[in-house]
Amino acid sequence: MPTFYLTTPIYYVNARPHLGHAYTTIAADTTVRYRRLAGDDTRFLTGTDEHGDNIARAAAAAGVSPQAYADEISATFREMWRSLGISNDDFIRTSEPRHKKIVQEILQKLWDAGEIYLGTYGGHYCFGCERFYTEKEIVDGKCPDHLRPLEWIEEQNYFFKMSKYQDWLIGYIRDHPDLIKPERYRNEILGFLRDPLQDLSISRPRARLEWGIPLPFDDKYVTYVWFDALINYVSALGDLDSERTRRYWPHVRHMIGKDIVKPHAIYWPCMLKAAGLDVFRELRVTGYWTIEGQKMSKSLGNVVEPPTYTTKYGNDAFRYFLLREMVFGLDADFSDSAFRTRFNADLANDLGNLVSRATTLIVNLAGGKVPDAAAVGGSGLKEAFERAVAEMDRAMADYAFHRALAAIWEFVGAANRYVDTTQPWALAKQPERRAELEPVLYTLAESVRLLGVILSPFLPEAAARIREGMGQHGEPRLADATWGRLAAGTPVAKIGGLFPRIEEKKAAVTAPVTPAAGSAAVAIADFRKTELRVAEVVAAEAVAKSKKLLKLTVSLGDEQRTIVAGIAEHYAPADLVGKKVVVVANLEPAKLMGVESKGMLLAGSAGTSLAVLTVDRDLPAGAKVS
Ligand SMILES: [Zn+2]
Repeated sequence: MPTFYLTTPIYYVNARPHLGHAYTTIAADTTVRYRRLAGDDTRFLTGTDEHGDNIARAAAAAGVSPQAYADEISATFREMWRSLGISNDDFIRTSEPRHKKIVQEILQKLWDAGEIYLGTYGGHYCFGCERFYTEKEIVDGKCPDHLRPLEWIEEQNYFFKMSKYQDWLIGYIRDHPDLIKPERYRNEILGFLRDPLQDLSISRPRARLEWGIPLPFDDKYVTYVWFDALINYVSALGDLDSERTRRYWPHVRHMIGKDIVKPHAIYWPCMLKAAGLDVFRELRVTGYWTIEGQKMSKSLGNVVEPPTYTTKYGNDAFRYFLLREMVFGLDADFSDSAFRTRFNADLANDLGNLVSRATTLIVNLAGGKVPDAAAVGGSGLKEAFERAVAEMDRAMADYAFHRALAAIWEFVGAANRYVDTTQPWALAKQPERRAELEPVLYTLAESVRLLGVILSPFLPEAAARIREGMGQHGEPRLADATWGRLAAGTPVAKIGGLFPRIEEKKAAVTAPVTPAAGSAAVAIADFRKTELRVAEVVAAEAVAKSKKLLKLTVSLGDEQRTIVAGIAEHYAPADLVGKKVVVVANLEPAKLMGVESKGMLLAGSAGTSLAVLTVDRDLPAGAKVS
């Protein structure tokens, strides 16, 4: 069984969790969920980085201890990941005793081995970055990140003999072409390594900074925050010789943002080599999100926090957008309109519609049980599914989430086209063609079941709803994603409202009303006799024993009415509630399947598509249509 251990960066507790943190954590979560689905022995770590000048100063400004300050912000990260459904196995905090113990153990080991020495260091220091800058990196005497003047600091400090690992590191990166990806970060690091590598100052005098892990061999110093933080990836597994460390450490992979490539690609492998630990297998670097084309920043007031989207549209919709929109490793733009467009097109129309149509057809035409039939040969869906799975697997090995999703959506599109061309509702009406119906319904049921498996890393909540509706129990496994395994007789329930469409105020598409056969000219005066009104759907339910009819309760402002409409094959009841529709209000009441209908709902149709007429600006229920 392959072993897969993945870490996110540990997030610095100087800011609340935002879109950038959420993306890296969701990308890592998706990766681990995929490996778990494939049957790997997985471990998934996230956590918070809590030491250093920045936190000490922010805590002092807030009038609380650094520990209390870190406790509060660390808790917001833990809570955010819980609410987003992140499946981490552990959450490490660098202020925990278990972490401190391993940091001190590694420091002592390096001290005993002569890898650390006491020296004097003078340099240009940025208090924001908590690091010294070399002459080459300084821009106009300022920190290139903070654009603030640097301060010259000279002090006695302990140094890690990093320079002696330069040649080894260059060779290691060259011998392992997949170690750092995307390629340009690998090239950037190799370029940086053309200049002599300096030894790394790994201590800070306690006189200047108390908030850190004391050096085990000189308690007048605390550990430099990077030297402390990087060790979290191994300290979280327990003692260095523990069973868990031996099981997972040789398989560790790190996912990080592009701002922290250097410590991970240079300091960290040298530290590991010196401590006699394996170097990580992969370092994968994500891009940045811009917001409507601008850099995300507190000062611009455009910081996106996940709940803005997840509380309204659900965790899965937010995950989907981030994974689908960003080419892993490159920058991407987040905008409200792009979010809505993807939501409506991919989730509501393509996926939600397929699942709702297919399960509604099986419930209505096959009594809610998977028919006893083999899948249709020659439908092309088996092949489309197998192509999607193969491409998904290749893409996930490359962390190319957008490609994996595009491949799955090719299959969703093929399944939707299959419903349109086979027209199961029409087959059901022709007694001589009933024999064709069951294999078609089986093929659709199998398509939906398989989506419940392969979507689970990407859309865990929707995939669980699909599996439940398709009568599937237990944890999904990629091994079950084999075409034709669905058992006859498996109960199927309607799965509606997976991703209810976001109603656009402007972009409502008006479907043409189907003209009456042989339509003749109608005098305006005659047309005016028809009273058309805007009505709001307040409730909707299926009509018992009918495959086609929905019973709607609509409000015309001053009165409520029941209207029966033949749209059950096109809309799930939940999808209609809250919609403003157009009705004929002055028809004589009629009884349909025993339910009295007072009025008629207008809908356009073309081929097998049907769309209920809505109004494209908000109007009160009861408004006249003319
Ligand atoms: Zn700085």
